[in-house]
Amino acid sequence: MVDYIQPVRGMNDVLPDARSVWAVVETAAEEVFEAYGYQRIRIPALERTELFCRSIGETTDIVRKEMYTFEDRNGSSVTLRPEATAGIVRAGLSNGLFHNKQQKLWCSGPMFRHEKPQKGRYRQFHQLDVEAVGFVGPEIDAELIVMSARLWERLGLQSPKLEINSLGTTKSRAVYREALQRYFTGARDTLDAESLHRLDRNPLRILDSKNPDLEDLIANAPDLSEYLDEESKVHFDGVQKLLDDVGVEHVINTRLVRGLDYYSRTVFEWVTDLLGAQSAVCSGGRYDTLVSQLGGKDTPAIGWALGVERVVELIMAEGLPINEQTPDAYLTAGGEQARRAGFSIAEELRAKLPNARVSMDCMGGSLKSQLRRADRSGARLALILGEDELAAEKISVKALREDTPQVMLTLDELVSMLLSSP
Ligand code: ATP
Ligand code: MG
Repeated sequence: MVDYIQPVRGMNDVLPDARSVWAVVETAAEEVFEAYGYQRIRIPALERTELFCRSIGETTDIVRKEMYTFEDRNGSSVTLRPEATAGIVRAGLSNGLFHNKQQKLWCSGPMFRHEKPQKGRYRQFHQLDVEAVGFVGPEIDAELIVMSARLWERLGLQSPKLEINSLGTTKSRAVYREALQRYFTGARDTLDAESLHRLDRNPLRILDSKNPDLEDLIANAPDLSEYLDEESKVHFDGVQKLLDDVGVEHVINTRLVRGLDYYSRTVFEWVTDLLGAQSAVCSGGRYDTLVSQLGGKDTPAIGWALGVERVVELIMAEGLPINEQTPDAYLTAGGEQARRAGFSIAEELRAKLPNARVSMDCMGGSLKSQLRRADRSGARLALILGEDELAAEKISVKALREDTPQVMLTLDELVSMLLSSP
């Protein structure tokens, strides 16, 4: 028995048949981001551990128990990025991108969190991430949220529902934090170990608890909206009005606090009821203190990230049709001379038709077996190069998906034909 090396738990291969759905999501996102004037940035997967401790927060689940942290060969503590925002802000500061300038940025790539793997929750997963740095809002808050709504529309997704909330400023939240601490301390005996841990360090996070036994207690907790400062209220109203103006439906969820410490004011989450417990497909918010926390000037900022795996699963769950990435033409050639000519012809076709997908049979064997593979590939046309075709300097074209007669064409005729029926 062969003993294959197993993959690391919670880290998945994305196989070619799933790739087309991934490509649909990635292409649609890129088009939306560019339509709104966001520019791509690429950042390292590995950062100094300190970056995440200082930004995401020492009391969060991510920093406390989910990071892939290790010492590199020089003994420096490094961490595989669990999210992109901190890295983007770090990159902006390292490269002077925020010097008297605003930035609208996006990036994508794998993130790493040592969580309990299950459907929709992996240890390596992928995010598409947008960040706007240097804007006070509320237009930018609304713009970012609208972009996500437009992405669902473009993908044909119906189920995501938008929940929004305002966390207020750091100052107003501190008052709320005290009220919450008082409330939950009064019910100390009913709290579970996790919530007890959060009680002293970050009582807001108790609201995030998924323990059903705490549901009533949490439902009756003081309401964040009653503690909002005036400026945050005006800001939040502004965001909602803009969303209303362009028809983006939303509900206010005053229990939405998000798991990372750096958020302030607007936070939001797109949730679906089609993915079981892993209901959040996209989430984000404003982080007005993060840039200064990481050593920059006081700079307002906001961003969101979507989980590509969850969006891909949602596309499947909603049963949306996805175009298969099958070849337009599959080239078969019998005999050594024909194979050599066929190789060049396939190259010429790709050069003349940049949008066409041309596959070359690289296996050889009889034309019959090559044509069987042409059929299995899902190609629309089989191109056949045998001795007759070589002698006539033509190519036979056989339709594989419809009942039309086989024809022999010159290369130019074939190019025109492919151009006229893409
Ligand atoms: P959750 O509440 O599901 O743990 P989160 O609040 O930790 O999500 P964020 O840190 O805001 O998530 O990340 C943004 C998005 O990334 C989420 O909305 C989700 O779609 C996706 N995501 C987060 N963690 C994972 C994971 N372990 N596996 C797959 N996708 C994930
Ligand atoms: Mg999480």
